[in-house]
Amino acid sequence: MSGNAATVTTPVPLLDVSRSNSPIRDEVLAAIAEVYDSGRFLFGPPVQQLEQECARISNTQYAAGCASGSDALLLSLMALGIGPGDEVICPSFSFFATASCVSRLGANIVFADVDPNTYNIDPVDFEAKVTPRTRAVIPVHLFGQSAAMDRVCSIASQHEIPVVEDAAQAIGAAYHGRPVGSWGQVGCISFYPTKNLGGFGDGGMLVSNSEILIDRLRLLSGHGMRPRYYHSEVGINSRLDSFQAAGLMVKIGHLDNYTTSRRQNAQTYKRMLGETSLLGEQIELPYEDPAAFHVWNQFSLRVTGGRRDALRAHLQSQQIGSEIYYPIPLHQQECYRDLGYQRGSLPYTENASEEILHLPIFPELRESEQEAVVSCIREFYDQQSARRAA
Ligand SMILES: *Cc1c(COP(=O)(O)O)cnc(C)c1O
Repeated sequence: MSGNAATVTTPVPLLDVSRSNSPIRDEVLAAIAEVYDSGRFLFGPPVQQLEQECARISNTQYAAGCASGSDALLLSLMALGIGPGDEVICPSFSFFATASCVSRLGANIVFADVDPNTYNIDPVDFEAKVTPRTRAVIPVHLFGQSAAMDRVCSIASQHEIPVVEDAAQAIGAAYHGRPVGSWGQVGCISFYPTKNLGGFGDGGMLVSNSEILIDRLRLLSGHGMRPRYYHSEVGINSRLDSFQAAGLMVKIGHLDNYTTSRRQNAQTYKRMLGETSLLGEQIELPYEDPAAFHVWNQFSLRVTGGRRDALRAHLQSQQIGSEIYYPIPLHQQECYRDLGYQRGSLPYTENASEEILHLPIFPELRESEQEAVVSCIREFYDQQSARRAA
């Protein structure tokens, strides 16, 4: 049988963080050693340096480190004073942390559907779900592509609703040339190792143009304590430590290169998949909004005809990594059963979770590996039609 190049190629991992991390190993370890020797494990100089860099990249005036992207979202809603009786609108097609921050504060989640092309919050459905109790909206820049921030922000400002950007997957992305994180009142970045700026453990960053808000975020991330041992309100403990920041400071110097490679890999997939006869028939390429500068945290295919899971199993059998982000929309999660969403209530979200499949796209992915991925996909469909013909 032809087209079995994938079987003779080494396994293709979904993600190999070592390929980014090993070339900068000595530099990172030296930076970590410096923190070690300084004894300043919290609030050390690398934390302030990283804050400055993130503010620069996001084109915001301020940034404040915190312990994770999840905490950044939680702190943002805390700083906006969100609590019981309030409603927060967010997409259901996202990672859990986008919604859990709302429930953590005793507020009510209102899920909006996504645009079926970009998988980002549908501005029309967002506006339809605004009520007098809406206190925030959380657009997610899913997979590294900005949501339609011009429309989201204009609807939000008409209704005086603060915008919290979930930019966990999208550091460096932009919409109409304006970086994510600078559109809303606050932007939330994650340094979880699979993100575009992946750390060496957990870490997060808040970016904002509001001095008042960033000050409040800092206060709340330090137990609401100011001055020492005086607590004006109940905060949490959420800090970015100096080790993490020191390692990230080395990596952030390479972020533009990582982004360029991800963007190249995306175009390479598009070219290679475009040379198959599968597009439009069996699979659809990810849609790039012309206004968005996409940083490709993930490369998603849409697999039609109910074959997604079979294709994934075939890739797996050839040792090619893939993943489904996300197989179960948030409104269908067991913990949110009581919210009362029925099947069919967010049709584009549900459809996306049934058809989406993610391929390896990390910066150091080799062209030969992409070839192996694509030829394995082609092989799957060749086998399908051979089976039908038999
Ligand atoms: C990763 C992620 C988060 C949470 O970030 P952590 O740093 O892992 O807590 C939030 N939202 C989205 C969309 C994410 O992908």
